[in-house]
Formats: sequence, C-alpha cells, structure tokens
Amino acid sequence: MDDTPVLDNHMHLDPDAARGMDAVDDFVQLGGTHLLVVNKPSWHLGVESTDPEDFRSVFETTIDTVADATERLPGRAWPILGVHPGLISRLIDGRGCSPEEAADLMQRVLDIAAEYVECGDALALKSGRPHYEVDDAVWAASNDVMKHGFKLGADLDCVVQLHTEASEDLTEIAEWADDRGLDPLHVVKHYASGRLTGPTPSVMCKKDWLATAAKSDDPFLMETDYIDDPDRPGAVMGPKTVPRRVRWLRERGYDEAIEIAHVETPKRVYGIDTRRTLE
Ligand SMILES: [Zn+2]
Repeated sequence: MDDTPVLDNHMHLDPDAARGMDAVDDFVQLGGTHLLVVNKPSWHLGVESTDPEDFRSVFETTIDTVADATERLPGRAWPILGVHPGLISRLIDGRGCSPEEAADLMQRVLDIAAEYVECGDALALKSGRPHYEVDDAVWAASNDVMKHGFKLGADLDCVVQLHTEASEDLTEIAEWADDRGLDPLHVVKHYASGRLTGPTPSVMCKKDWLATAAKSDDPFLMETDYIDDPDRPGAVMGPKTVPRRVRWLRERGYDEAIEIAHVETPKRVYGIDTRRTLE
C-alpha cells in the first residue's frame, strides 16, 4: 500500500490453531503493520481452574505469540492481557462458584495480568461484562470485576479494553473509570459500532460502521476480533480485513480518519508510536 501504519486493535493469535502465524503473514501481505493481540479466553487454552496462578500460562502463551508476530511484522505487536467476562458463567455453571467467588477469582487473575503490564511485558488490560443476559447477582459481580480493572488501569496508567454488551452509550462505565482515576479515553470498547459515548470505540470493520466513525472527528480504532478457531470459521472477520478496509477508506478520501485510527488514537490512548516503530 503506502507507508501508513495499519493497526488491528483486537486480534487473537494461536500458534497451535488452524492458521497459526499464517494469519500474521496474511495481515502483512495486505499492508498490515501493527497488532494488539488479546489473550484467547482461558478455556480455549485448556485452563479450567479456580486457582488464579494457573492463568499465568494463558498470559505467557500470548506474550510468546506476540514475540513471534513481531518478527513477522514491519511494525510490531503488543499483548493485552486479562479475563474474558464470559468466564463468570463458566465458573458458576461449571465449577459451582457463587457470583462473589467467581468475581474474586477474576479479580485475582486481573491482578496477575497487571503484573505483566507493570514490568513492561504487556501493554494493557482486558476486562468487561457479559454481552448476554445474566441475572442481577452475576451482573453486579461482573461490574465489580470491571471496576477492579479500572482501578488497576489507573494505578498502572494503562488502557483497559472492554468486552461489553452492544451499546452506543456507555457513559455510566466511563464514569466508573473516571471515579477511579482512569481517563475514559483510556477505556477502549472492543467490538464497537461506529458511534459511542463514553469510552474510545474500537470499531469492527463493517463498512457502514467505519464510514460513521470516519465522518466524526472523534478518536477511534479499527479491529477484526479475528480468532483462529477452526470450529467457527467465519465467526469473526479474517486477518486481512483491517488493511483492506484502510484501502477502502483511502479510496473514499478518508485520509484524516486513517491517520486518526492508526496513528493519533493509538498514541493518545495507548502511548504507542506506530509511525516510529515502523522504521
Ligand atoms: Zn476477542
């Protein structure tokens, strides 16, 4: 393409899954340069424990994968570590935990993820709440986990990426972050549509959503949520999608939006310099 950085803000990689690191090569081939790699849900990697220490293997695997990806990228990759909010249901339904016990375990796992951020091995944290219907106790416990994530993000001065229900208004969540000293700009909603009040949206690469985001002057990021799961082919977008959509935006004259999504917002939100790391 040209020498513009192209960042996919939310992708999962798994060297042992179907496509493995070929997904990175596909991304690069179309002009992709930088990746934020989020650890797969722990149960996808065989961790079904109630001991927080057992989750370290999920984080170590992700950090190793990011190092491999960086070798293949013209820019680099960074890890984002945390707990998938769906874990709460697995702990309650599959392990017999109470909502409070499950939330406590998830907070301890976030504490471990925070250790990796603190020592510089990971860039940001991942938290959130279920995108599906849950009862009030599970909802309250999930919100407690997310608030704990905000506290850690404020202490470490790092971003917290969120998995939440579909919404274009997460003002309340932004307030919870703000109350704990975390600037809502540093809260990123993964799988966002083109419009969002509150956190920074990481927009899924649907054309109409991208066009909406591109027409606003607000900060936004672009993502695929690619997950290398052979059991669910096509469940999410492929690894080539962000570079393809950057091309599509370029053809429509959205040069400024490309700069916002791939240079300015990454710098303002994560403090990463996608241009300098492309040299
Ligand atoms: Zn994901």
